[in-house]
Amino acid sequence: MNTYEPPLYELSAPGKQGANLPELDVPAAALPAHLLRQDDLADFPELSEPEVIRHFTRISQRNFCIDTGMYPLGSCTMKYNPKIHEEAARLSGFAAAHPLQDETLSQGALRLMYELQSDLAEISGFDAVSLQPAAGAQGEFTGILVFRAYHLDRGDTERNEVLVPDSAHGTNPATAAMAGFKVIEVKSDARGNVDLNDLKAKLSSRTVGLMLTNPNTLGLFEEHITEVSRIVHEAGGLMYGDGANFNAILGIAKPRELGFDFMHYNLHKTFTTPHGGGGPGSGAVGCTAELAPFLPGPNVRQASNGNYEFFVPAKSIGRMKAFHGNFGMLVRAWTYIRTLGAAGLREVSEIAVLNANYLRVQLGAIYPPAVNRICMHEVVLKGQISRSKGVRTLDIAKRLIDYGFHPPTIYFPLIVPEALMIEPTETETKRNLDAFVQAMRDIAHEAVETPEMLHEAPTKAPARRLDEVRAARQPVLRYNAEQFAQLRDG
Ligand SMILES: *Cc1c(COP(=O)(O)O)cnc(C)c1O
Repeated sequence: MNTYEPPLYELSAPGKQGANLPELDVPAAALPAHLLRQDDLADFPELSEPEVIRHFTRISQRNFCIDTGMYPLGSCTMKYNPKIHEEAARLSGFAAAHPLQDETLSQGALRLMYELQSDLAEISGFDAVSLQPAAGAQGEFTGILVFRAYHLDRGDTERNEVLVPDSAHGTNPATAAMAGFKVIEVKSDARGNVDLNDLKAKLSSRTVGLMLTNPNTLGLFEEHITEVSRIVHEAGGLMYGDGANFNAILGIAKPRELGFDFMHYNLHKTFTTPHGGGGPGSGAVGCTAELAPFLPGPNVRQASNGNYEFFVPAKSIGRMKAFHGNFGMLVRAWTYIRTLGAAGLREVSEIAVLNANYLRVQLGAIYPPAVNRICMHEVVLKGQISRSKGVRTLDIAKRLIDYGFHPPTIYFPLIVPEALMIEPTETETKRNLDAFVQAMRDIAHEAVETPEMLHEAPTKAPARRLDEVRAARQPVLRYNAEQFAQLRDG
């Protein structure tokens, strides 16, 4: 969109205003002098309400969102976020609770946390849960710190290597490195499983543990999971479960029974609290009774008189987050679990897996699957459809925007050349899946007949191809009239 949209600052004029403050209903008191502003509000824009509303509504419409269309971003589980969650999170007893409020005045909030801990433990088979971590990556970091504390507590001080499969999410090796450990990569075999021989060769008395996601990032169930767990444990290592892919196995398999000792849940993926744009998340963690004393805290327990109270586990690694995690996310996840119930959660996974396999079968002849076997909640395809015309996965992804779809995850996992990682989730109807299939087929046709349409895409989005690296490394976060004019006029 090249029409000129003046930034808020340029609409400013002295005396305009859009805020209505309520009448003062308490006695006026003078502010302490040190709290008073010392300089004029010289450059502060003055605007009317409609100008502000139009500005923010306009920029909100430039974003693709799950409320407007299908968002098959692999590994991110961009399912629809039910609106009843927003109602629950806005209940004033939750929304207006102060984190320093006394426990006796926060029993409802504590009970919700306790029940969520218990539900997550039940769903995964673990003995204890902490709701502290704010994201999956922070849950991973928590887990690896717990592993370290556990080994040291046993007097096992030589372990300094964390094993990570070559298909892993980037946060896994980053977590291990950040915790000060050496990262050892384990290869995948031709069926997309962990290569057992390579795993055996890399296990030793230095192994802290293995970080594994199941299903893995190829969207495939790890076929030798119990064998993998057994040999890691035999070497004295622990099994870390990256639970980002939990959406595939809810009510079907319990990670504890697959041999995992510790796992993070992405409440903002599987349990549908809104995510994207770096907003608040929740990377709750669960573990075995053996590791529970090391969990971060405070967590919630029920006292003998029935009251709920905070407690910090005996050998806790400490706090991972101020106060009690992202509480609004906990309310939404609790609401999701309670509205669906056990049978509903299982159905979520069954449909998520069915939808991904439907796309695999419908698209597999044109976009070959990375590994051709039944997949779980997502499918990884290859975008090598018209190499002679120079069409790449990036072009296909950008063209999908013109067709009204958010692109899938691309070039991940790293072991698949030209990867297209598609996760439809259970909330898309067959009609939507068919529309997506048709778009992907049309794009394959264009790739041969009119490849320039793919190279030029997207043509219908508010922005064309962005310099994503520069946007991340040199973000322009402050309004600067000169710079703005330059960007505007190219
Ligand atoms: C999303 C994801 C993570 C990290 O979770 P965040 O909440 O984004 O920090 C880790 N592993 C996998 C496989 C993921 O998809």
